[in-house]
Amino acid sequence: MTGSFAIKGWCPGARRPMQSGDGLVVRVRPHAGSVPVGALKALADAAARFGNGQIDLTRRANLQLRGVTAETLAPLWSVLAALDLLDDDAEREAIRNIVINPLAGVDPTEVVDMRPVARALECRLAAGPGVQQLPGKFGFLLDGGGCLPLLQLEADIHLVACRDGADASIAIGLDGPDGLAWLGSTAAADAAAIAVQLALAILKRSPTGRARALSSEAVSAIRAELGLRSLDRSIANVRQVASQARGLIALANGTYAVGLGAVFGRLDSEAMAALAFELARLGIAELRLSPWRTLYAGIGDRADGERLLAFARGSGLIVDDADPLTRVDACSGVGSCSSTTLATRQHARVLADMAESTGFSGTLHVSGCAKGCARSALADLVFIGDGDHYRVVRQGTVKDNAFAELDPAQIATAGHALLTQEKSAHV
Ligand code: SF4
Repeated sequence: MTGSFAIKGWCPGARRPMQSGDGLVVRVRPHAGSVPVGALKALADAAARFGNGQIDLTRRANLQLRGVTAETLAPLWSVLAALDLLDDDAEREAIRNIVINPLAGVDPTEVVDMRPVARALECRLAAGPGVQQLPGKFGFLLDGGGCLPLLQLEADIHLVACRDGADASIAIGLDGPDGLAWLGSTAAADAAAIAVQLALAILKRSPTGRARALSSEAVSAIRAELGLRSLDRSIANVRQVASQARGLIALANGTYAVGLGAVFGRLDSEAMAALAFELARLGIAELRLSPWRTLYAGIGDRADGERLLAFARGSGLIVDDADPLTRVDACSGVGSCSSTTLATRQHARVLADMAESTGFSGTLHVSGCAKGCARSALADLVFIGDGDHYRVVRQGTVKDNAFAELDPAQIATAGHALLTQEKSAHV
């Protein structure tokens, strides 16, 4: 134990759920980030029948069903198996950490549709000798480019599509000791095999099995061992950020996508079932997951996109990037986690409302304790639960030193003052 929380060093799965304050957390890893609408409805039903009806969208583009019990786990497994969402064992499941662009195969501006690479990688991870020793948090990021790129995200291994003259190739990189290190490029057909080869090379040379713990010498040795084609200038083509992530997104071929954010990454089973019903009514076959807790649907017609947006607004989903809730992360807090007595999400909502009225335009992280489950990146203001109050950090993470304390009972006054002060600090 460190402080009042346990460091687990692994992520929950369906085969190996994690005990939390509201029961077992069962993580479901959809293939290539896609959930058919029929499966979405079945998952919503299963969340209500076998859990407490609460569903999280995770930062690795997975779903988590909460409040499952030892008795309801086996029947839940049966449902997941029927939906092709249950791995053969916990070891295979634990290493299937693959994040892919949410609009892969839908976005006409993508360089490469990475879904076949994701499928090939899944097969190799399930079958490959040695990969079962990879740490549970080891991750692969597959970025085919397009309007929702992933390059800002962290992962041990990056496979990024880039233009190479008239052709496309896949740049191979790792998140090493000095940040993202590019090792070279390969053809899309070889990318999954190279990714597994690279994972095994990292495992062999890293003291923790993670790319970040490699020495600079080890990165150079791996680069030489892989012997990939050099990258030239092509990688610069894909270093962009999304200009729009939520709402109605016009795609280059006259079709649309709709991005629907879940407040604090949480939906309940009724909301998910209603969304599945609406998607089916509009003839939409699948929903895509993203690592930024936003769901996507490809849609052919603007009028249907507007209908889906109207439905989502009425359901409390976030449909506008300017919504202050998109800049606030908060962990589940009291009632869901036994490491805090603080109502983190309730406090985060109050702070988000005040962000609008004070003109505060930065990011907020409200954490029930110093573990910081909801966010690892820096935030402009971080509230860290410590007993019955928060310690407040400016432009940092839960690990940094606090400059103030906040009593939640004073949030309307002291919280308002903090946001106002922080805003003027940035003017
Ligand atoms: S950060 Fe929040 S969810 Fe994570 S252990 Fe602490 S209180 Fe629980």
